[in-house]
Amino acid sequence: AVTASEPTTTQVRLRPEIAALPPYRQGRPAPADGFKLSSNENPWPPVAAVAEAITAAANEVNRYPDATALALRERLAERYGVTSDEVLVGAGSVSLLAQFVLAAAAPGDEVVYSWRSFEAYPGLVTVAGATSVQVPNRPDHGHDLDAMAAAVTDRTRVLIVCSPNNPTGVPVTTDDFERFMASVPADRLVLLDEAYAEFVRDEASVDGSSLIGRYPNLVVLRTFSKAYGLAGVRVGYAIGPVPILDAARATAIPLGVTAVATAGALAALEPANEAELLGRVDELAERRDALRESLIAQGWAIPAAQGNFVWLPTGERTVEVAEALFAGGIVARAFPGDGIRVSVGEPESVDVLLRLLGELV
Ligand code: PMP
Repeated sequence: AVTASEPTTTQVRLRPEIAALPPYRQGRPAPADGFKLSSNENPWPPVAAVAEAITAAANEVNRYPDATALALRERLAERYGVTSDEVLVGAGSVSLLAQFVLAAAAPGDEVVYSWRSFEAYPGLVTVAGATSVQVPNRPDHGHDLDAMAAAVTDRTRVLIVCSPNNPTGVPVTTDDFERFMASVPADRLVLLDEAYAEFVRDEASVDGSSLIGRYPNLVVLRTFSKAYGLAGVRVGYAIGPVPILDAARATAIPLGVTAVATAGALAALEPANEAELLGRVDELAERRDALRESLIAQGWAIPAAQGNFVWLPTGERTVEVAEALFAGGIVARAFPGDGIRVSVGEPESVDVLLRLLGELV
């Protein structure tokens, strides 16, 4: 068997900055009788009709998929009141993020985003050969949008706004976002990453779907991975101006979106199936709010949480707390020296989490 444990070397001239990139981190598998709360996954398996649609598509995988995912784009276009040309489907929204960055930022160009935010951003900026400009979050763990707008230089090509922010959970408000859009030059691409949009219950939060068509430089990104429980098939989408989407289409590896994935997404959007899925989202949002309140009552300083996860600002205690959680059966995502992100999962996982964290506060 081949193992990856021994570091290997090569004479092949790779791009050094790429060879040095850390691998994309996934949580450890959950211990027996434990819970994997490290990837913001949906704890439910697919509803039966969605699994059936995926299985039916699996029976035809000797054929290539429709490279443009037209059926899904049409369905989404209807939903958002746009044309199908204003929708781009990708192999997860992380693929789309990479496509947009590649479309706009070349070596020497800058991509501005808040930090800490989604772990994939630094890597995909490096792959494009561009330079990351990380703007520290505010003390409340939300984006400092004024500082992000002020970070724009001649070389800035893309600004990424993540709302609610992964991993801190804090959303951007509509007011702050509109002020931000007014101060960012209209020839710079703004990506609004709303991977967790369906979990938002705070009405002051920005809602990308209400901004579509209002800005010539705004693209809104959403995914079927979280609320719709389809992380394993890889399908997400972007809505925005046609020329920007065309450029992002050109940077994609052709045929990356599988027929299995689009079949799952289309089935998830069927009214009866979607009603069931969004009912689960309601449950998770309520569970999240209850979990946050219980943690605050225990003495934890939990920031606003509008995704399907909460952020524990554990600072220097991060590794110690994460190890104690793991020993108690909970796999969480630790960011050493900073904090721990815990997904909202099964009700029993919340009970275990509250018991463990009550002892650790
Ligand atoms: N954006 C954010 C903020 C995320 O947290 C994630 C998933 N962790 C993604 C994008 C990517 O999701 P996917 O590629 O599964 O659509």
